[in-house]
This record gives sequence, structure tokens and C-alpha cells, in this order.
Amino acid sequence: MINRSRSAALFDKAKTLFPGGVNSPVRAFGAVGGTPLFIEKGDGAVITDADGNRFIDYCCSWGPLILGHNHPAVRQNIMEAVSKGCSFGAPTRYENELAELILDNHRYLERIRFVSSGTEAAMSAIRLARGVTGRSKIIKFDGCYHGHVDALLVKAGSGLATLGTSSSAGVPEAYARETIVLPLNDREALEEAVLQYKDEIACVAIEPIPANNGLLIQDESFLKFVREITRREGIVLLFDEVISGFRVGFEGAAGYYGIQPDVMAFGKIIGGGMPVGAYGSSREIMAHIAPEGPVYQAGTLSGNPVAMAAGAAQLTECIKPGFYQDMEARTARLVDPIMAHAKNQGYAFSIFTRGSIFWLAFSDKVHIRKSSEIDPDSMKYFNVLHAELLNRGVYLGPSGYEVGFVSAAHTNDQIDESAEAFKAALDAAYQAAE
Ligand SMILES: *Cc1c(COP(=O)(O)O)cnc(C)c1O
Repeated sequence: MINRSRSAALFDKAKTLFPGGVNSPVRAFGAVGGTPLFIEKGDGAVITDADGNRFIDYCCSWGPLILGHNHPAVRQNIMEAVSKGCSFGAPTRYENELAELILDNHRYLERIRFVSSGTEAAMSAIRLARGVTGRSKIIKFDGCYHGHVDALLVKAGSGLATLGTSSSAGVPEAYARETIVLPLNDREALEEAVLQYKDEIACVAIEPIPANNGLLIQDESFLKFVREITRREGIVLLFDEVISGFRVGFEGAAGYYGIQPDVMAFGKIIGGGMPVGAYGSSREIMAHIAPEGPVYQAGTLSGNPVAMAAGAAQLTECIKPGFYQDMEARTARLVDPIMAHAKNQGYAFSIFTRGSIFWLAFSDKVHIRKSSEIDPDSMKYFNVLHAELLNRGVYLGPSGYEVGFVSAAHTNDQIDESAEAFKAALDAAYQAAE
């Protein structure tokens, strides 16, 4: 077992400072048990905790670090920006640089607005959709996460196409009633809801590659259907690309599937590890945003120069030819030998991937497209695997519902070493379950 005594002492202290000892819930290791690791530093694919343990990291700050930790180009741009001051509340050239890089290389974006988190991006995009349509209801899908926006912390009510109920204390039921929650990959449910609430629906929000509750890869025909029905009914289609954006390709899932949404929300990779979100669309739709239009949205630290500099440095690397093919090859190098081993051993196990996103499913299902298709009992395998991987120097996010990320910093040697650790950890997980 790894020594976690320093992390444990820091966690004890943190519990006297923060609810549950953390500033974001999943970090508390509640699902997998044990003390969360306090990270001291990261370099490339490796993180080092407060006790000096080193891990090959597949959490990558939950996705933002597509170049790995402390990438020299990102660090250098940050240092340059920081040396001139951290924030002005006035425009700087860094905003133009990041925006131009994105708009010049994304066929579906003409205007963008920077904010400071993915939550803020999704929240603002929904306000925009409501402002554009003059309607108030939104449709979301069970298993998609769009940040902790009130209207989106909603789960399905009973029965098909009913209005949602809040999934967090503090969210008024009146807000939840504005949200319709539907199962993913289900055309009939969507058709029925659209029929029932026809002229009230402002927005259909979806993660086109749902990656916050397992990796629920949708049938392409379903995504196309979502596009068709929203276009037909004058509903704004919001692609929440906070994870998939710049991850499965520079143009995210929209580019991957060749589907043009009306509005897109971004976060994570766009900020190079700094707090950045954004939403964007066509010139006409974005003209509804203040000061050009009547939809209000603002931010003291929006477009922060240090954060913009980090994002620009990171995306400059991503745009280089072959970047995403290389990421897919790295991911296959990790996943293929683990899958071969699981098959050999007869484990009911699968790894789903899209680009450099991967998710471990302790199941022999060929497809998992809805959250109801994930067996909660299968998490017991993940929890053993997680601990076994830590002991073998591999770090995954501490929940079996979370996906993992390969970065451009993961070397072949590190990937091969990780694959060996995964095989041994899998053996331990399936032995423990017997
Ligand atoms: C992470 C995430 C969010 C929330 O972003 P924060 O920066 O954590 O607020 C929203 N939508 C999706 C799809 C995400 O993955």
C-alpha cells in the first residue's frame, strides 16, 4: 500500500476548512474510499502527491490537460502574460488571439464569448437560447452533465416526457419544471416531448459525446435526428462540448459527426488548465448577447489574459497536423492490450473510447448508450481496480462513472507500463469479486 500519511494530514486539516474537505465533491474519494491524494506537482503525464508517490495520470484534471501537466509552451505563455499583470477588466490582445485561433479553425463558429467555467458557459448558452426563442422550457438527457446550473440539476420525473424534479437541494421545483429530462438515444421519447410541449421548448441541450456518466456513445442517427427535429421546430440545439470540444478533434463532436448545432458550450481544454469557458454560435445568434443584444451576460474576470494565454498556447499545439490521430493511436496502445487480456481471462469487461477519452465498463454489453444501462453494482470492480492502480503507480479519477483521458504527454513507455498495471489491477478486481 502506498504511504498517504501527508495527504491524510492535509485532508484532516481540509475537513476543518471546506465541506467534506474539498472544493468539488468527487475529489473527496467518496466512491472509492480512502484518503484523497493531495497533489504536489505535475510534469508531463506524471503527478506527484504530498507523500512523494508518483503516478501516471489519466485524470488530467478531468480533461483540460490534453498536453499533460506543466507543458513548456503553456507555462511560457502564462509566465509572459502574468509578468504584465493578472487582470485589467479591460480588453487585451490575448482574447483576440485565442478567439481567432478558435474561429479560424472551427467551421461552425462565427462569434464566441469567453466566461470562466463550463458551468457558466452552459448556463449562458441556455439563457441565450431562451432569449433567442422567447420560450422557456429546455430538454436535457438523463446521463448528460452540464455543470451545476439550477435548471440542469434536474432528474427525470416518473413516466415518459414528464417534467423534471430537482436533483439537488436548493433548486426550486419551479425551475425544475422548466426542464424536461429524457433518456439518451431514444427518438420516440424526444418526438413525444417535442409534440407535447411544442411551442414552449427553447433549447435541447446534449453532450454529443456524453462523458460524465460513463461514456454513452450515441447512435449517429440519433444525433442527426436531434438536429432535424430541433431545426423543424425552431428549437435551439445546444451541443455541450465542454469535454468533447478540442478533445475528439479541434472541432469537437460537431466536427466529428459533421453536425452543426446552433450553439456550443466549451470549457476544460479551451483554458489550458486555467479557468476558462466559452459559448459560441453564428453571428446572428450571438448578436442577441449584450452589449449587442438584450441577453445579459458579463464577467469581472472573463477573458482573463493569463487564462487566455494558457488556452492559446494549448490550442496552438492541438491545431498542428496529426495531433488528433496521434492521440487516438496512444489511446489504442493503452486500451488494446488491456482488452485483449480481459478477453483472454473471460472477464465481462469492456473499454469504450472516443478519441482520447476512455471509460471502463465492467460489463460485456457491446453498447452502453443510456445511463440506465450501467449496472450500479459493477462499480465494486472499479473501486478495487482504482486502489490496485494507485498501488501500481497509475491514477484515475476516483469514480467508476468518470472517464479517463490520455494526453499528448503520455509516452509509449508510460502507456505500456500503465497497460501492465491495468491488467494486474483487473485480475485483482475480478478475484476480489468472486
Ligand atoms: C465539466 C463539464 C461541465 C462543467 O464545467 P465546469 O468548468 O466544471 O463548471 C459542463 N458540461 C460538461 C459536458 C462538462 O464535462
